[in-house]
Amino acid sequence: MTACEACDRLISHCRQVACQKRRAYADQDYWGRPVPNFGSTRASLLIVGLAPGAHGANRTGRMFTGDRSGDWLFRALCKSGFANQQESTCTSDGLRLSDCAITAVCHCAPPDNRPTADEIHRCQPFLDETINLIRPQVFLALGGLAWKSVARYAIHQQWLAGSQPSFSHGSVVELKIPRRRKRCWLVGSYHPSQQNTFTGRLTEQMLDDVFVKTRNLIRDP
Ligand code: SF4
Repeated sequence: MTACEACDRLISHCRQVACQKRRAYADQDYWGRPVPNFGSTRASLLIVGLAPGAHGANRTGRMFTGDRSGDWLFRALCKSGFANQQESTCTSDGLRLSDCAITAVCHCAPPDNRPTADEIHRCQPFLDETINLIRPQVFLALGGLAWKSVARYAIHQQWLAGSQPSFSHGSVVELKIPRRRKRCWLVGSYHPSQQNTFTGRLTEQMLDDVFVKTRNLIRDP
């Protein structure tokens, strides 16, 4: 997947950002290509984000690592026992996830953090592959686009009947996955983007509450 070049616009953006760099990271080598999943393939929790940040994961090569969104996410993950530490600065920072994995609907950093519908569609096979491989008990969708992508897959697999369930922060939908001993769930959360955290649309308490809910669903489905 890290060698995929299916989206011309995104690949050239990732490379361009990696060449130009932000002044604060001028001495660093940027990753500058599709960012792989992070975490265990046996995780109970699969977090689905939108796309790597230009100077975050596109720089460090690890999902949500090295930017403000990641600071919020890993702080919440650490508090809820899904990560061993809050700090996430680079791939050698000692961060380990516990029973959790992180992916995104689009594996390349898009201009203005906005992948097009076509780009998300082109990247969907990687999400499908990730879901098939990990088979998590809980999907946590960060934002409406991640929610739609997981729900689309779930409807296609007949884990969900009818039309797309509506997304809101804290919404929970049961997925009827055949031959699973434990009940499975799709949980929604606002994305911890600066657009949401700076405006107060998403507070730290709101994000913590989603992880408490998620933890409870895994413990007592
Ligand atoms: S967004 Fe996905 S499909 Fe498009 S180039 Fe990146 S890895 Fe490939």
